[in-house]
Amino acid sequence: MSTKMKAAQISKAGGEWELVERNVPEPGAGQVRVKIDACGICHSDSLVKEGLWPGLQYPRVPGHEVAGFIDVVGDSVTSWTKGQPVGVGWHGGHCFVCEKCRRGDFAMCINRKVTGIDFDGGYAEYMIAPASALAAIPENLPAEEAGPLMCAGVTVFNALRNSGARAGDVVAVHGIGGLGHLGIQYARQMGFKTVAMNRGRDKESLAGKLGAHHYIDSSADNAVVNLQKLGGARVILATAPNAEAISALVDGLSADGKLLVPAAPADPLTIGVLPLIMGRRSVAGWYSGTAKDSQDTMEFSELRGIHPMVEKYSLDRVAEAYEQMLSGKVRFRAVLMFGQ
Ligand SMILES: [Zn+2]
Ligand SMILES: [Zn+2]
Repeated sequence: MSTKMKAAQISKAGGEWELVERNVPEPGAGQVRVKIDACGICHSDSLVKEGLWPGLQYPRVPGHEVAGFIDVVGDSVTSWTKGQPVGVGWHGGHCFVCEKCRRGDFAMCINRKVTGIDFDGGYAEYMIAPASALAAIPENLPAEEAGPLMCAGVTVFNALRNSGARAGDVVAVHGIGGLGHLGIQYARQMGFKTVAMNRGRDKESLAGKLGAHHYIDSSADNAVVNLQKLGGARVILATAPNAEAISALVDGLSADGKLLVPAAPADPLTIGVLPLIMGRRSVAGWYSGTAKDSQDTMEFSELRGIHPMVEKYSLDRVAEAYEQMLSGKVRFRAVLMFGQ
């Protein structure tokens, strides 16, 4: 095996993509080395590119939608084996000793790490991951699908399954992009009356193919009226990164409805409080999930035939792939692929 590997790194805030050769890293205790097959490109990778994460240390290899297999098992790793297909997502491990960890709420660990931010991620042929950040990939799930499920997938899957909505409830997914196209599929397969909302009518037929029972043009004047005609949404999963559009959705909620925001728009939301009070409605964020949640996401996706739609790129096209993601031109997830 070569002792060198190819990686794409950012070496300063606002820096350009650099294709570099690095030493293949060795795992320490409690870690494994993953040989990477695929890594999805997430909008959050811009936190590394643009230096928007406080305290981030450069150079950094981003990437937290990793799918590959275990190549080397470090000391004191007991439950993972060489050759096992694994994913690594946003949740890059937890401390096991803080108050939240002691209650088993690892996602809220105050010392949690983020893959590709606190340590090098998946824009490389190999990476080191803590064993606590590993999700087992089901046997028949291809790497280019497993990758995007490790962040985009688990985020919307976990948001919906913990949203309080019950089978038969109206659940609207706002925005049909990397997150939204998966959100529609999960909402449908979890048994919700699924409403897809997007600007214009371009994606209406696609929304139907993904499983939406109803489609609403979110840019039309009567968008929330149309949602209320369906009884109002018990949950609106807001995936389009547009604060003004998200803010306007509150009026489409049913009583006790929840506006659930799993991805941050650049601007603050502007929401009138009276509709919240009068309908006992709420606005809530959602934070990704642990490695086990990611594993659940992959297993549910296989069980119910849910597939991310991806465009594949080789590592040397990383700049192009990233630009396509940023401009929203990707249908719907750009994935870096590595030679087998
Ligand atoms: Zn992400
Ligand atoms: Zn902790």
